[in-house]
Amino acid sequence: MSRPVLEVQDIVKTYGEGEATVHALAGVTLTVERGEYLAIMGSSGSGKSTLMNILGCLDVPSSGTYRLDGVDVSELNEAQLALVRNRRIGFVFQSFNLIPRTSALANVELPLAYQGVKPAARRERALAALDLVGLANRAEHDPNQLSGGQQQRVAVARALVSEPALLLADEPTGNLDSKSTRDVLAILDSLNNEGRTVVLITHEDEVAAHARRVIRLVDGQIVQDVRNRPLDAARIREEVGA
Ligand code: ADP
Ligand code: MG
Repeated sequence: MSRPVLEVQDIVKTYGEGEATVHALAGVTLTVERGEYLAIMGSSGSGKSTLMNILGCLDVPSSGTYRLDGVDVSELNEAQLALVRNRRIGFVFQSFNLIPRTSALANVELPLAYQGVKPAARRERALAALDLVGLANRAEHDPNQLSGGQQQRVAVARALVSEPALLLADEPTGNLDSKSTRDVLAILDSLNNEGRTVVLITHEDEVAAHARRVIRLVDGQIVQDVRNRPLDAARIREEVGA
């Protein structure tokens, strides 16, 4: 078996000191294999964002170890962490986070520009990524010329253009209407079907139902870890209105 994409061992994250100490994560152990589709659920304050920030190398744990794609992240300095974020992780945020007044194509090219990929190759790969999310015909549009659902699809294209080991999405449908939610979830489903590792954070059962595995956080601890049955085709057809 190949090495896991994520190996989290007994991670603790505390904020504050003394009586004001908050145990945002109180000993989380989690392994995610390549090709998994995991939803992290939990009510507000349960530690989802804290875990997401650590998994995304945006923050470090107070104790415990985290290996991403075999690399022990705790041993890396800021510059190395930035490289890991750029190369191994594709982020999708609730609020899209596209650069305004900049075409969809240029937004998607950006991670490749940071990696020093040459303009022609950059353009080709970004167009292919936009094509994958069904937006090749919107490449020259700025974010404000796109619907929320389209903006999030551009964000997904940007997240996957660098071929990351992990696609990490924090409430990716939190700002979308139900039609756009279905569109974005259908894209995540198909990316996972092609073998990509997807971790998404949500508090909605309907969204989590797309994942193949669901963990639930309560007070910074995993209290449940269940495998979903494969989505049945009839239900998917119903959901997409086919
Ligand atoms: P969720 O995303 O599930 O709503 P969070 O991970 O944001 O939960 O927060 C988990 C706990 O840690 C909460 O009690 C929250 O108040 C606390 N917390 C989060 N960030 C900080 C911070 N920067 N300073 C102090 N406490 C924090
Ligand atoms: Mg949160």
